[in-house]
Amino acid sequence: PPGSAAAGTVTRTTCGYCGVGCTLQVRVTGGEVAAVLPARDGPVNSGHACVKGRFAYGFLRAPDRLTRPLLRRGGRLEPVGWDEAIGHVARAMREAVAAAGPDTVAAISSARATNEENYLVQKFMRVVIGTNNVDNCSRLCHSPSAAGLTASFGLAGGTDAFEDVERADCLLVVGANPAEAHPVAGARLLAAALRGARLVVADPRAVGLARYADVHLRPRPGTNVALFHGLAHVILAEGLADEDFLRDRTTGLAELRELLAGYPPRAVQEITGVPAADLVAAARHYGRARRPAIVYGLGVTEHLHGTDGVRALANLAILRGAVGTGRGAGVTALRGQNNVQGASDMGALPDALPGYGKVTDPAARGRAERVWGVPLPDRPGLRIPDMFAAARGGRLRVLWIIGEDVCQTDPETGRVVAALAACPLVVCQELFLSETARRADVVLPAAAWPEKDGTFVNFDRRVQRVRPALPAPGEARADFAIVHALAAALGADLGCRTPAEALAECARLTPLFAGLSHERLDREGAVRWPAPAADRPGTASLYRERFATPDGRAHLAAAPYLPPGEEPDADYPLILITGRRWAHYNSGTMTRRTPNLRLDPRDQLDVHPDDAARLGLRDGDEVAVESRHGRARLRAAVGDQVAPGQVFCAFHFPGSGVNRLTATRGDTATSCPEYKVTPVRVRRAGR
Ligand code: SF4
Repeated sequence: PPGSAAAGTVTRTTCGYCGVGCTLQVRVTGGEVAAVLPARDGPVNSGHACVKGRFAYGFLRAPDRLTRPLLRRGGRLEPVGWDEAIGHVARAMREAVAAAGPDTVAAISSARATNEENYLVQKFMRVVIGTNNVDNCSRLCHSPSAAGLTASFGLAGGTDAFEDVERADCLLVVGANPAEAHPVAGARLLAAALRGARLVVADPRAVGLARYADVHLRPRPGTNVALFHGLAHVILAEGLADEDFLRDRTTGLAELRELLAGYPPRAVQEITGVPAADLVAAARHYGRARRPAIVYGLGVTEHLHGTDGVRALANLAILRGAVGTGRGAGVTALRGQNNVQGASDMGALPDALPGYGKVTDPAARGRAERVWGVPLPDRPGLRIPDMFAAARGGRLRVLWIIGEDVCQTDPETGRVVAALAACPLVVCQELFLSETARRADVVLPAAAWPEKDGTFVNFDRRVQRVRPALPAPGEARADFAIVHALAAALGADLGCRTPAEALAECARLTPLFAGLSHERLDREGAVRWPAPAADRPGTASLYRERFATPDGRAHLAAAPYLPPGEEPDADYPLILITGRRWAHYNSGTMTRRTPNLRLDPRDQLDVHPDDAARLGLRDGDEVAVESRHGRARLRAAVGDQVAPGQVFCAFHFPGSGVNRLTATRGDTATSCPEYKVTPVRVRRAGR
């Protein structure tokens, strides 16, 4: 029982794996985690947790955990003291700025880190270095959500509370596999379907939820925009749109009507491969529901036209008046990482300050300048892919990477490795000697989420406390302390000495967070942003009175379908889709060092039986996979979760080299990589 002496200490915190944000009780005895249990009163999880949050904690005391700073000398990484390591980085930053200007330094902040750490990193880059070269890995997953939702509705978050989704009478789940990637949310969606909500799943793969779907739409990868326009076409053609809402609260209908005339079900079938009858059935389910909900994942965003996809999906909610009215459950983006929402909210973005004020906007800059006391750079900084290009081109002198294994998880890793090799100083803050850390010049040992103090923001904008259950091992430090040490070595004082002070400063700067503090979150539990004042509740459902766009109206988007960046052809006939599996998490740095490894011991390539027969493959065969960008080796797993002509694999293991195959090209609006469409060829290895 929590709190008893025999149980050791029990600390209530927020899961550091996915963006669902389950509340966990971490029990520590003898200086080690003895158990992690879901909190029965957790606002998102109500006593549930998945195999990651519940069991994947053994990495904390793994024998290869980094416990001392490392500095490269004579080609080898050698242990050094903190002063020497920090002094080395500070010197390199100072010299880079003096020799070639502040834009020769760049930082990749982390969606794994707390809000307070992200706040401090972006403040360091803007205030101490004088550049907007700071980004976070939402660039590679949900940056199209931020861009698309902001353009359609005004704010860069999901529109409603997840509880509303559970009360929906029709769930449209798109480009997501929540049963594996967000298991607690997936279970709640399934429960809603089993209670009677219509379930429409749109995903090329037979993901777990599809088994329970009333309609499963399987579009060809890269054709989402046409699919969503097809659904919208039927909703309008059959008189299912909410005309009063469209008249009173939206803009752009005439342009959209004109565009949608070109997307009748037969035409959409041609583009997407989805039978016209299924499309019509799905549109009727969504269009006739009293409380329809849209829940989507990276299958919508990780495309060449990911932002167009988000906006075309948002169109459906707008057409039905399912957002801002209480008559529907709006649009929910299932965020991948624990704090991908918060890292962007905190301004770890090259074009936006905390709270999303643009760096180019004098008013937004002025607000930050008054709080921070220095003039700020007004030119947008580099996005992550542009940082690598700048490094390869000799324009970057220091690249600081916090908690991201870019050499495993970013696309076209051959080019990422080349970028790191070309950059004079690469600094990596990590738990382990990851694929990225082992190529760095300085490695700084960092604390993990059960060792940290701060807050995360989950996928329905809940700001939740993160509390340290045990100390970091050896000399490892929280990212918060490392950023402060680096600032001090450069003669700067960032203020906000504690995470609580950092959130308080952010609250002064950011209307979205104005009413938030650690003390309030400790007292009340989770609070959703916008939280405009300390004595007012957070906001579960957005836009009840007006949308947060400049004219207060929801904006329908009329962008046409455009094809993906690469189509399969005779040389590369199969389409590779990448994603996650249930036992592991992203680069697998943490989960591979836990018993979860026994549940899922390696990356594999899912191949449809028809393709396997044509290629002469048997289940378990080692296969060579080639794209126009690189090669990888995997084990074939023959099964019909993938459609014919498509293959799927995760990216949890460094050895398989999956991201050597994927392409750097990305969403035209945000540079989010097109992970979901990579033409490849496959053959049995050794032939
Ligand atoms: Fe953690 Fe996500 Fe699993 Fe909840 S569903 S326990 S937040 S990994």
